[in-house]
Parts: sequence; C-alpha cells; structure tokens
Amino acid sequence: MVDSVFLRGDLHVYPEAEAPKSGGFAPPWGGGSGPSSYIGVSDYFVEYAWDIDHKKKIPVWMDLQLVLAHEGDHLWGISGHIDPDSAYTVYTKDCSGL
Ligand SMILES: [Zn+2]
Repeated sequence: MVDSVFLRGDLHVYPEAEAPKSGGFAPPWGGGSGPSSYIGVSDYFVEYAWDIDHKKKIPVWMDLQLVLAHEGDHLWGISGHIDPDSAYTVYTKDCSGL
C-alpha cells in the first residue's frame, strides 16, 4: 500500500509548522490506488526524525517509520487509534522500529 504511494509519487512532504503536533496524514480507506491514495508527511520526519535514533515526541516518541506505518493503516481502512494520544493504529507498533 505505502510502496504504491511511493512509486506514484503521491507521498507529499509538508512544512512541520503547518501541523507541528502531527507526523502526517492519509485518508481512511484511501487504498493503494485512486484519488484518495496519498500520504502527507511532515518535513521534520523526513529530514531529522527518520529512525529510532532520531525521533520526535508529539506527544509520544515517533519516527518516520512509525508515521508511515500509521498512515498506511489509515489507507488500509484502519481509521481508529488505539491510544489516547492518537499516535498508534492497530499495526503501527508491529511495523515500526519503536
Ligand atoms: Zn491517525
């Protein structure tokens, strides 16, 4: 799902200042193709918080891998969050290095 977004060039990087408390966004049920199949990621995660040694607390520690897993879950239809901080979806802990 996320790889098809990458291949099409539908991963969009936005300035952190636009949404400093968020790592990214993706439409629920956006799928692997079609007009709602895209992911937005904060430039902070692309440039600085790309792995477990370079992460950001917003309010839990996150890195780019977790953000991509999280947004991939939303594309797949996993629209709910499993924690009060809305950091984790069902598979984010399994699919990230954190
Ligand atoms: Zn989410």
